[in-house]
Amino acid sequence: MSRFRAAKYAGLTVYTPGEQPRDRRYVKLNTNESPFPPCPEAVRAAAEEAERLQLYSDPTGKALKDALAERYGVEPENVFLANGSDDILSFAFQLFGEKGVSYADVTYGFYPVFADLHGTSARVIPLREDYTLDIPAFRAAPGMAVIANPNAPTGIEAPQEELISLIESDPDRVVLIDEAYVDFGAVSCVPLIRRYDNLLVVQTFSKARSMAGARLGFALADAGLIEDLETIRCCTNPYNVNRMTMAAAVAALKNDEYNMGHCAVVAQTRGKVAAALREMGFFVADSRANFLFARPPRGGGKALYLALKERGVLVRFLAGERTQDFVRVTIGSEEEMDIFLRETRSVLKEMEA
Ligand code: PMP
Repeated sequence: MSRFRAAKYAGLTVYTPGEQPRDRRYVKLNTNESPFPPCPEAVRAAAEEAERLQLYSDPTGKALKDALAERYGVEPENVFLANGSDDILSFAFQLFGEKGVSYADVTYGFYPVFADLHGTSARVIPLREDYTLDIPAFRAAPGMAVIANPNAPTGIEAPQEELISLIESDPDRVVLIDEAYVDFGAVSCVPLIRRYDNLLVVQTFSKARSMAGARLGFALADAGLIEDLETIRCCTNPYNVNRMTMAAAVAALKNDEYNMGHCAVVAQTRGKVAAALREMGFFVADSRANFLFARPPRGGGKALYLALKERGVLVRFLAGERTQDFVRVTIGSEEEMDIFLRETRSVLKEMEA
């Protein structure tokens, strides 16, 4: 750290993304990326747009806001765009966290980082014994509620009636539903934004639309919340979404069945992998996301993660009291998952011996 850094940022803890190793080729099941390429029209649109890179991107994002509004049955004034949904989460903590923020003890690891960065007081709400969200405890906590639904790393979906009860419990609190994984089989809260002006739904093109490298997140909410986000964005970086990403996203939305079809394939593979793991003696949480949170019958999460890594299969291990017994496994292609299951069986056999 240099001597120039503001004292209030001296003790920041940074978010640690999943490994992106370059030492060898892995079956990479550790960062919830899609095993499918982006849709061909999106790739073509991005390549064409690259010829105009001397020009700034549209700071209003009009074409993409129009396309998203049509896709989700809302108005363009209900749509916000950002360079990945992480940027939206950061803006939300900055804007709506004045009275504190509550989030689960086992959830997306970036939430505590944003709370720390923006000096927001955090209320950490333990998941219940069965790893489901304790919505009554969220209702009792003041300030913004932040809920990943489906939750990460568990993949468990919260019943929509419970989320509605939270949204209705205090009309003066913002409820942020992070739907990064919603397209893999969960029920979205997007239709509720017409009814509740305190609901902010955040989604991303990183998972369901195979565009993690393009960095595109979006939020859908009442026009008032969107205006707040626009204010912070325009005080930070009005050209926050680049030309190629915007063109690719508009093209992808013209043929959204391409990506939604792939989500259905992932959900199907997820079911098969979960069944195979349960047969091996794993406890597997009921996931509606593109990953599984699985506890091996022996050895713990770290031993399995390390043994699989040695065999060229990369899964995610999350240290921490309630996660250390588990691994989080991204659902890849059928072939990748066959390799994962084969290697997992072999590791368990070795541990038994
Ligand atoms: N929310 C959750 C729950 C996530 O797991 C992720 C991906 N790490 C994000 C948001 C951020 O996604 P992105 O910035 O790629 O849109």
